[in-house]
Amino acid sequence: MNAILLRGRLLSFVDRPAAIDDARSYRYESDGGLLMVDGRIAASGPYASVKASSPADVEEVDHRPHLILPGFIDPHVHFPQMQVIASYAGSLLEWLNTYTFVEEQRFADQDHAGRIASAFFDELIRHGTTTAAAYCSVHKASADAFFAESMRRGTCMIAGKVMMDRNAPDALRDTAESAYDETRALIAEWHGKGRNHVAITPRFAITSSREEMEAAGALAREFPHLHVQTHLSENAAEIAFTRELYPEAADYTDVYARFGLLGPKSLLGHCIHLSDREADALAESGSVAVFCPTSNLFLGSGLFDHARLSGRPTPVRIAIATDVGGGTSYSMLRTLDEGYKVLQLQGQRLNPLESFYRITLGNARALGLEGSIGTLNTGTDGDVIVLDASATPAMRLRMETVATLAEELFLLQTMGDDRAVSEVYVAGNAAKSVLATNGINNGSGTGR
Ligand SMILES: [Zn+2]
Repeated sequence: MNAILLRGRLLSFVDRPAAIDDARSYRYESDGGLLMVDGRIAASGPYASVKASSPADVEEVDHRPHLILPGFIDPHVHFPQMQVIASYAGSLLEWLNTYTFVEEQRFADQDHAGRIASAFFDELIRHGTTTAAAYCSVHKASADAFFAESMRRGTCMIAGKVMMDRNAPDALRDTAESAYDETRALIAEWHGKGRNHVAITPRFAITSSREEMEAAGALAREFPHLHVQTHLSENAAEIAFTRELYPEAADYTDVYARFGLLGPKSLLGHCIHLSDREADALAESGSVAVFCPTSNLFLGSGLFDHARLSGRPTPVRIAIATDVGGGTSYSMLRTLDEGYKVLQLQGQRLNPLESFYRITLGNARALGLEGSIGTLNTGTDGDVIVLDASATPAMRLRMETVATLAEELFLLQTMGDDRAVSEVYVAGNAAKSVLATNGINNGSGTGR
């Protein structure tokens, strides 16, 4: 039996906070204990009582005065874009054609895919992200490398081979048939292995023919428990081109609806320029709009209208993600900070309790995985992180004047990055400090 007892300030959400003073939306334990046994959370609550119920030989780690939260969840990220991030481009289609479609060709090489997959998991863990929904490249080998790395790390991951058969370089094009066959092979080889989930991943309407969209729809019908991930309504030129390619559809959202690709398992990146009809179609189908603030700002795509989507009679389900490498940071804290500013520009505000709800339980609910990740509930997987709101001299100085939990969280999201993530546990095992002991460059400090 592998048992570990963490001591610190526990914070976990039970529902979406209605306001900054909504104390019923979360559980907070100022001297908390979190017991993990064989990769799962076995108990959490006041330290003294959890300690009393722990095995005599339990390993104890004292993280006081830091916060202990569920691991962060990033529901939209591109692992083959680690060497695309920070590319100087004007807008989405130029960025894709000039940088991304060139770089992704390298993932035909299994060694390259393996090397980047390893670096990608290091980076996620360094930033406190324990689950992601990732796009691989068009090559099945890239998804094989990703899932193999996830097995080694013991992580809960969602990923898919990108389906794309047009409007891209020859070397990045599959066919409707090969996309279907290779996705099926991935499902057989990886879905349910370890904590891996395979997602049906048509890149977006522009890069898939009708035949390939039909193949994606067929997969979604055959495997209704699988996630579908794609992009929707990011940029004006993209929307115009999509309308040209699919004149029979009422709008961009209707393209996906026609092929059976909307639904509660569908993760739609961006959703910036939606009409009311489109927003209602997402709401009624239970599809998830994924807000990617650093990417939307970097590519000048537009401002995600959180209030309009969440304030409808039937609200659109919302998640928040990095979208690296259109996004500019692996950090969900940096993502919250930029998301806050995107809403500020529209006269909207996201309070810090809701922010931290979003990147934990909120994103877990968006993925339909709240039964296993996103909380500190007994019986769920032991993916937890330790946050230090005094990680840098400037943060330490500001912390001197912080009086409430909400203020501390807001400081973390406004000033924090990987340095504020003091430790990460994946399935009950320390994962961030291990990066350092393995001799991997651990950035500017672990905070411990
Ligand atoms: Zn994306």
